[in-house]
Amino acid sequence: MGYQHVPLIARTIFLIDSVQRVDWRNSFGVYTSNISLTHRTQPSDHISDIVYSRANSSFANVLVSYICNRRFNSSSTPKPLIIVTPNGGHDYEGISYVSDDAFFILDMFNLRSINVDIQKRTAWVQAGATLGELYYLIWEKSKLHGFPAGVCPTVGVGGHFSGAGYGNMLRKYGLSVDNVLDAGMVDVRGRILDRKAMGEDLFWAIIGGGGASFRVILAYQIKLVPVPEKVTVFRVEKTLNQNVTDLVYKWQFVAPNTDHGLFMRLLLQPVTSQTQKGQKTLRASVVALFLGNSDQLLAITDKELSEMGLKKENCTEMSWIESVL
Ligand SMILES: Cc1cc2nc3c(=O)[nH]c(=O)nc-3n(C[C@H](O)[C@H](O)[C@H](O)COP(=O)(O)OP(=O)(O)OC[C@H]3O[C@@H](n4cnc5c(N)ncnc54)[C@H](O)[C@@H]3O)c2cc1C
Repeated sequence: MGYQHVPLIARTIFLIDSVQRVDWRNSFGVYTSNISLTHRTQPSDHISDIVYSRANSSFANVLVSYICNRRFNSSSTPKPLIIVTPNGGHDYEGISYVSDDAFFILDMFNLRSINVDIQKRTAWVQAGATLGELYYLIWEKSKLHGFPAGVCPTVGVGGHFSGAGYGNMLRKYGLSVDNVLDAGMVDVRGRILDRKAMGEDLFWAIIGGGGASFRVILAYQIKLVPVPEKVTVFRVEKTLNQNVTDLVYKWQFVAPNTDHGLFMRLLLQPVTSQTQKGQKTLRASVVALFLGNSDQLLAITDKELSEMGLKKENCTEMSWIESVL
């Protein structure tokens, strides 16, 4: 994006202002009227509160707070011309806050309302909310519902859902986007489009194809999923002298085929040996969530993956919300 596009910022601020008034519990249609800054903008002192130019003494602090990948927190990383309001910022490559061209950051921080309709088992979540906020708001309404998304609660809904989103309930309920029913986005003419208005092709693209490749996504409507009152989590670690090879070999056949309520991640890491001084060894860690209690879990793992040696004392039962926050 070149300098000539920077004046668009004002319009972008306005868009944020206008969409905050949308009631996400209602399906929204196409806004055909032209957006007018004079009619809808907030007072200028409010705007100055949310716009940070390089001359602003808070510019550096605001930018650093946004950079989740510390690799890009360096003096040589290209800086934006301007930051509009202090999303998630969890892109691995930093593409939401690094560019060699002149750019500005449009953060969705102020678009973070979440409306849970427990009767319908649905929710509207705005793109600037974090996964943790979504999980918590669902839990406030129901202890028996949840949503299948990522394991890191500070990841932003906007980037996560537009990139598909996987988490601990993947095997039971699929990706986050398998549970997205509708979405709201702004097109180049400033119209707000829902799924019907944008069409199925574009809707398909923004739930997996990366939102920023298309338009600014404002919110998603999601389908909640049932969770049990108690889930069980565990972490088992084994090194080379503890038959880790047998565990890793067997895990490959069991993990993708076992009970759909059991999600077992395997991490392989080189670590310092505890038994041979100055030597390195390989450690395999199985980190898991089971949608059920520990007795049900042990009945499965004893039968299917005894190489893991899972014991009752390795298991912790908790509510679903405790397992995700
Ligand atoms: C610590 C960490 C843990 C993670 N854990 C998981 C995990 O468990 N499961 C998983 O699937 N992924 C995980 N991820 C990856 C994460 O889901 C993606 O990087 C995601 O794109 C981050 O979204 P964000 O909104 O936080 O990031 P941002 O950096 O703000 O945005 C990422 C991209 O999405 C675009 N975007 C964001 N919001 C919008 C919007 N409203 N409209 C249009 N485009 C938008 C941005 O422009 C950018 O290109 C993790 C990442 C990190 C850093």
